[in-house]
Amino acid sequence: MTIEATLGASSSRDPGTASTKGSAGSSWLLCGGCNTMIYGRRFDRAARVCADCGWHAPLTADGRLEQLLDPGSRRDIDVLAIDGDPLGFVDSRPYPDRLRAARAATGLHDAALAVHGTIEGNPVVVVVMDFRFLGGSLGAAVGEVFTRGAEVALRERTPLITVTASGGARMQEGAIALMQMAKTSQALGQLDEAGILTVSIITDPTFGGVAASFATLADVIIAEPGARLGFAGRRVIEQTIRQVLPADFQTAEFLRTHGVVDIISPRRDLRPTLGRLLSVSSRRDDGIPRQPLRAGGAILTKIADLPERDSWESVRTARRLGRPSTLDYIDMILEDFTELRGDRMSADCPALVAGLGRLDGVPVAVIGTQKGHTADELRHRNFGMPTPSGYRKSARVMRLAAKLGLPVITLIDTAGAYPGMEAEEQAQAVAIAENLRLMASLAVPVVAVVTGEGGSGGALALAFADRVLMCENAVYSVISAEGCASILWKDPAAAPRAAAALRVNSRELLRLGIVDGVIPEPDGGADADPAAAASALRAALRICLAELTPLDQMTLVTRRRTRFRQFGVPTAGANATDSDSDTSTPSDAAGKHAAATDDQPGHEQSPHEQTVEAHR
Ligand SMILES: [Zn+2]
Repeated sequence: MTIEATLGASSSRDPGTASTKGSAGSSWLLCGGCNTMIYGRRFDRAARVCADCGWHAPLTADGRLEQLLDPGSRRDIDVLAIDGDPLGFVDSRPYPDRLRAARAATGLHDAALAVHGTIEGNPVVVVVMDFRFLGGSLGAAVGEVFTRGAEVALRERTPLITVTASGGARMQEGAIALMQMAKTSQALGQLDEAGILTVSIITDPTFGGVAASFATLADVIIAEPGARLGFAGRRVIEQTIRQVLPADFQTAEFLRTHGVVDIISPRRDLRPTLGRLLSVSSRRDDGIPRQPLRAGGAILTKIADLPERDSWESVRTARRLGRPSTLDYIDMILEDFTELRGDRMSADCPALVAGLGRLDGVPVAVIGTQKGHTADELRHRNFGMPTPSGYRKSARVMRLAAKLGLPVITLIDTAGAYPGMEAEEQAQAVAIAENLRLMASLAVPVVAVVTGEGGSGGALALAFADRVLMCENAVYSVISAEGCASILWKDPAAAPRAAAALRVNSRELLRLGIVDGVIPEPDGGADADPAAAASALRAALRICLAELTPLDQMTLVTRRRTRFRQFGVPTAGANATDSDSDTSTPSDAAGKHAAATDDQPGHEQSPHEQTVEAHR
């Protein structure tokens, strides 16, 4: 614990001369970022953000609420006034003297306020901290204000937003201050159980006991640019490890790269960002998507409706760089999408995107692998191959969807999970396995669509769903055709033969019952007309969600488990190549899967080779 390092001592940078007053008025001040002189009134008009360098000056609790809430919507929540000095603490002055001085200087009872209000018309409970009051330190009074705000949010089923600014736990209250971390954390746990959205807004600085409790337990973490958050302060760490830390250490930008922060939002964008999030934060009573007017043909379920096609040609078509990516589809079919970032652990994987938005007005969570159209984008997105942090981000967003009762849509286009050294060090296999188990019991509708390449375990990790669909030109396979060719044929040039043997195209996978339906693509493929491809995807998703959303949680989970339970179970008389029957159902098709695996290329295989099927 680093309680001794708290109370503002963790801040290496002074909060700035402009920081300690709520409003600058007609005076001149010195910017805490670039040392430029700023005229007070102009600074206030700019929400106390420096026009030259973008430095976000601290705000008072009242100033923050004024910026955040709809005008006239604030109603303060009564909190029992805690006036204790549990230890009879004296340093150079008695603690009660310090409290009196802080109250006189700020007009506040302690370092936090809890209020009701609305943000862009959405009701919220907001708890906001004020750094001027003893460095925003967490003592019994702040813990009580936060907990009371959380309890009101729970009772009224209203989202809870917190704005933190704190040096850490309040030393003068000793272990009583420490216990506030436990008290506030369990209050957030109750909001999780009740399915109520929580959002944390990190302002500079947020350290110690506040960082290690309610500031980082929220569903969505938003930070102001440059805001620093951490458990231990920079100086304590530098003294301990005897190294100089990088300049951006513990800043919002550093934290987003390391998977802690979802969104960095400049102050002027905070209200619209929150408005978007609040609008998708829960499933409404009317939250069942309408069936499209003309549903016929939106999902092909009969093998006869799909032309015979060469599997290798499908592989090449599925890999075309012009095909719409997950972000393209999100852009074309969702409203008010908010991307969520990071695994809250180590990193934010750019090969996997996730977030909340609305499909035809209905809130949904969308998760998908992201490739790209250019060499730069592909490199930035790691060629669409997620790392373990990608799968952990996906799991985090799926849990959030389950908490809020939102359907999950996954869009899959990946050659596979990233095969790399770091990925193994961070337990890629565990991340994939845990996703499979999580999806098996997720108590909300899940629809998966393979839009391009469905590469092995890295694809299945997002495809344990109630409905599994494929775009017409997509492929889905246990291993890449090239990988299979080099292992079993000892010749990568045998990839076309391997693709055919693996039966990777949509027609074959529909026959095997791996997918429930195929989404038709425009003439020439999805890349020939991305808008038409997106509209076909939207129609198919609407049909699936209209079917699944009315089902209760037990029915959903039971049917999903049954769907996957039956793969590989032999069915009497089944044969992979027997017919083009139009009446094939997933259950009898699943039986055929067993027979299909007999079709092996005839060459000597070691037991090792026979079991090697998925090295990615
Ligand atoms: Zn500046």
